[in-house]
Amino acid sequence: MKLNPNYSNLKESYLFAEVADRTAKFAAAHPEMKIIKLGIGDVTLPVCRAAVEAGVKAAQQMGEQSAFRGYGPYEGYEFLREKIRAYYAARGVMHGLDEIFVSDGAKSDVSGILDLFDRDNTVLVPNPVYPVYVDSNVMDGRKIVYASGTEENGFLPLPDRKVKADIIYICSPNNPTGAAYDKEGLKKWVDYAVENKAVILFDAAYEFFISDKSLPHSIYEIEGAKQCAIEICSFSKTAGFTGVRLGYMVIPKALDGGKPNGMWFRRQSTKYNGASYIVQRMGEAVLTEQGLKQVGENVSKYMKNAALISDTLSKTGVWHTGGVNSPYIWLKCPGGDSWKFFDRLLCVGVVGTPGAGFGENGEGYFRLTAFNTYDNTLEAMLRLEKMLG
Ligand SMILES: *Cc1c(COP(=O)(O)O)cnc(C)c1O
Repeated sequence: MKLNPNYSNLKESYLFAEVADRTAKFAAAHPEMKIIKLGIGDVTLPVCRAAVEAGVKAAQQMGEQSAFRGYGPYEGYEFLREKIRAYYAARGVMHGLDEIFVSDGAKSDVSGILDLFDRDNTVLVPNPVYPVYVDSNVMDGRKIVYASGTEENGFLPLPDRKVKADIIYICSPNNPTGAAYDKEGLKKWVDYAVENKAVILFDAAYEFFISDKSLPHSIYEIEGAKQCAIEICSFSKTAGFTGVRLGYMVIPKALDGGKPNGMWFRRQSTKYNGASYIVQRMGEAVLTEQGLKQVGENVSKYMKNAALISDTLSKTGVWHTGGVNSPYIWLKCPGGDSWKFFDRLLCVGVVGTPGAGFGENGEGYFRLTAFNTYDNTLEAMLRLEKMLG
């Protein structure tokens, strides 16, 4: 046998290991100090009541002869896809039920979807970026080009007509920068994709955090997107399902004459046996009026933390983006170097994530997250203010 040689082209990611290592060393040397982690990239609030109750009920059904269910449909149960369709429709976006595919989460989808595309495609990825987009294409051996996010463009790069790309990843609101495209910005990407016969893979994992009413939650709010875009969504951040596992993808039939839609069904029926019935019932409960209200309360708590971080940075004159429509705040390190700033902040017992770990353009920047408690976030911000003051 021959191993996939592309794996040797993957860059080892030391980011989170190095963060953990430096934090542990500091904690050992300063046992008296309470360390506050604002580097958390995972939700912390529990799953909402509506989803828990639906999950318990579904688990009980599985133990009753009359209600037991075995394998479900590859594309997900209709009860859940109906709810997803209605969720979109409430925003004026119409999808057919057969354009929606349920999955165990967005990470599987953003990488799995590559099965549909030839190796001989150029992939365009923003920089800084969620590392999964890059690594899953490196594993397949595709050529990758980058779109530079900078302070000047607010970390929202726009298409460059001189650059030819076939597969384009966009994540908005973005991880790690928290920046979110407006309709005008997304329209430029849609126009570019249509002109170049490219496909956009739109990662909407954080759409539920958008508070600015003028911003699009879905790329399909942009005219022409159904001809060029696949949208990937997740219950992970919306509903705290990171440990539950549920996501969905929209592949419009208007994209390339419906071929990708049909191919994805064929792919799923070969490689996947569906998300669990219990979890799909939990997802269905999230997308009810009551469920949406409950998950909205959790997101509001995170967003209160995000606003506090953002306000503190504004007060201390630190350039930053994100935080208003996203649980991530991306700041320009006073002093420049990402890791030096990490160490400085660690000295006051606050942990964040150096931007350099998300790509070259992240050097000199830093990510803080809103997933800790309000009290801890407040304490961290008082320490940060004192440190910078
Ligand atoms: C957290 C996250 C996801 C969600 O992944 P799941 O597999 O659904 O948990 C997707 N995209 C980005 C950019 C994320 O940060």
